[in-house]
Amino acid sequence: MQERTLAIIKPDAVERRLTGRIIQRIEDEGFQIRAMRRIHLSTREAEGFYAVHRERPFFSSLTRFMSSGPAIVLVLEAPDAITKWRTLMGATDPARAEPGTLRKEFAQSIERNATHGSDAPETAAHELGYFFAGIDLV
Ligand code: ATP
Ligand code: MG
Repeated sequence: MQERTLAIIKPDAVERRLTGRIIQRIEDEGFQIRAMRRIHLSTREAEGFYAVHRERPFFSSLTRFMSSGPAIVLVLEAPDAITKWRTLMGATDPARAEPGTLRKEFAQSIERNATHGSDAPETAAHELGYFFAGIDLV
């Protein structure tokens, strides 16, 4: 059954001109890109997006980073897309990411880790709605 997930190419990867290589991997792995947009989050918008982490010690640094420059938001579709995309990204900390994953290859640190992916069906639905309207999914 087809599933959708929200992916973000984070500001570190956009700044380092890795957008094309990451999108190539997305297509090579068989995802359909249903929507895609370049955005520059305000601090407030980044805080809203990562609201579940607001009590974490890294929250203010994370939201500053996520609003530091342009990012690319995408809706990816595939069978089991949520797990499939998180597997392709690899572990949050690049030091612990498997070889061949995006974070192993492109992340610079546990914070500047190149990509985001929704972690469950409920969060995917919420995160898709944070950036896209139904009419944007084509
Ligand atoms: P994401 O939600 O971005 O896909 P994730 O689900 O692998 O990543 P989370 O635990 O949800 O990891 O953390 C959200 C983001 O916060 C991480 O991707 C990373 O950018 C940052 N982060 C997580 N843990 C730390 C940490 N210990 N120190 C600094 N930044 C962190
Ligand atoms: Mg997460």
